[in-house]
Amino acid sequence: MAGFKKIRVPSTPEARRRLGYFTERCDQLVSTIRELVEIESPSDDKAAVDRVSAAAAQKFAALGGTVKIHPARDFGDHLQVDFAGKSGAKPVLLLGHYDTVHPLGTLATMPCRIAGDRLTGPGVLDMKSGIALMLHSIAALKDWHGDLPHPVTVLLVSDEEVGSASSRPITEALALKSSAVLVLEPSYGPAGAVKTARKGVGDYQVKVTGKASHAGLDFQKGVNAIVELALQIEKITGFTDLKKGLTVNVGIVSGGSRTNVVPAEAIAQVDVRIARLKDAAGVDKKMRALRPFNRKCKLEITGGINRPPMERTAGVADLYAKAVAIARDLGWKLGEAAVGGGSDGNFTAGLGMPTLDGLGGVGDGAHATHEHILISEMPRRAALIAGLIEAAGT
Ligand SMILES: [Zn+2]
Repeated sequence: MAGFKKIRVPSTPEARRRLGYFTERCDQLVSTIRELVEIESPSDDKAAVDRVSAAAAQKFAALGGTVKIHPARDFGDHLQVDFAGKSGAKPVLLLGHYDTVHPLGTLATMPCRIAGDRLTGPGVLDMKSGIALMLHSIAALKDWHGDLPHPVTVLLVSDEEVGSASSRPITEALALKSSAVLVLEPSYGPAGAVKTARKGVGDYQVKVTGKASHAGLDFQKGVNAIVELALQIEKITGFTDLKKGLTVNVGIVSGGSRTNVVPAEAIAQVDVRIARLKDAAGVDKKMRALRPFNRKCKLEITGGINRPPMERTAGVADLYAKAVAIARDLGWKLGEAAVGGGSDGNFTAGLGMPTLDGLGGVGDGAHATHEHILISEMPRRAALIAGLIEAAGT
């Protein structure tokens, strides 16, 4: 309807009360986010990640949660917090991570600062605002009900940005014990759509070994690894099948030493994305079946599919429908998106657990220098998550 301006008005007194509750407390929510952002926590710095873990543990413990630390040797520790609930239902799992892609010292050039409706800072969108939303929605439910309606388990991991190798078994074990998984990764787009499908992700390395020789004196004794790799790259690129949502991207190539040397080694690093789990084995098999065009070359393929796709199963659709109903009461049409990037929600959905992702902050610039959230979106986001914790356990 041209010229019609949608006004956000909650349609029920209860929704209005809840939105008002979080709007009144928006400054507290922002200060929680700021505290977490100002403890920098790049994935590769265990001491730094452990600092933000300790700060988060203290905040969840203050709400009455039972803290369990899962120590990790090469990464920060993972944090599990269990909250009892009134019902004897299985817990709702709130899933996220406190590592970021930003190196220590980023705050100097990218401070946590309010500019109009924006709050900036390293990891503010991905996903420290998501952790703050967990804290404030749990606090609100306790305020409203005296205790949580259902048990809730929070899991915050330290290595999501680097593939979750160390935390994956913990994530999967807790997901299997839960009724539903709510992932507080950043939402999608300026309207804050949730994510109901994510592609699976694979990483491969293709290494060619040829034979070095002097390009002038002994040209014919050499076996050019770069030429072989070029042929392999063309073949690999042909595995892409856009109709299936399957993409294969050769993202990094290296090889050779000097222009006057026939190169003995060349390497390609390859990113594979799959929309459907049933395509995983096929593309993996094709990668592993690569054979040298030049028999004098040796080919080594390493890597594999490390995150299964999150498919829009009936369980996912059901959780999304619950979220839409809650948002509608809040006066808002909640969209959904299918995205190419993976998260730990891929693991839980891959096990068949009902999973809804992208429930966290609304903003832009995840992993970039303009990373920010929109402060005005936070109250209704918190109200949505509180409502989903109630609804997901039923
Ligand atoms: Zn993230």
